[in-house]
Amino acid sequence: MSRVLIVEDEQHLAEGLRFNLEAEGYEVEVLDNGEDAFALLTAKPGAFDLVVLDVMLPGKDGFAVASELRQANQFVPILMLTARGRPEDVLQGFAAGADDYLPKPFELAILLARIRSLLRRREWLQPAQESDPNVFVVDGRTIDLNSLELRMGDETLRLTLMEAKLLRYLIEHEGRTVSRKTILQDVWDLHEDTDTRAIDNFIVRLRRYLEQEPTRPRHLLTVRGVGYRFVRESGAA
Ligand code: CA
Repeated sequence: MSRVLIVEDEQHLAEGLRFNLEAEGYEVEVLDNGEDAFALLTAKPGAFDLVVLDVMLPGKDGFAVASELRQANQFVPILMLTARGRPEDVLQGFAAGADDYLPKPFELAILLARIRSLLRRREWLQPAQESDPNVFVVDGRTIDLNSLELRMGDETLRLTLMEAKLLRYLIEHEGRTVSRKTILQDVWDLHEDTDTRAIDNFIVRLRRYLEQEPTRPRHLLTVRGVGYRFVRESGAA
């Protein structure tokens, strides 16, 4: 049974969500503020399979909770409830480490579908196999998209689902230039006229993971005025 933590300060909404998620067979816990959520999630890593995280919370808001969890190496999937569906809010949520978002007000059926999809994606990413199509080696770094880990020597970094999704996308399009707009559509499912430069923040993070010298990338190349190209062998650049 999947365990879901709801962080929502509107009591009616929180209890409505609890009722419906329990009816779907999930085990549910509800908190009404970000401080308690952060404390619980860091005290009990692995206790929850998913967090439904409201952005507008008293005290620590949802963006802060998400980014502090990621900084604390807590990578539980986060479905963020944004007050507005503006692309800037959505992208701020992703930049903070959310895996998916839903603007309020939302249809219950959509929320349930998004939750199922996130939990399923987590399952897909988990089973490891030998000679695994989800494991890549770039410049001495092993990228394991099953465990969302990047290993280099003794060091292990954790990727968020969105970082892993973007990285997978770039690797699958190896050698080809992909535009920012295409990335937004294919990786984030955003079709609006979004400020595509927000992707650049993700690329900066991925370069820190992948590149010997992040400011002089040899794998995650910028194609000026267009987008990005991933090159596995730096000699091919
Ligand atoms: Ca709220």
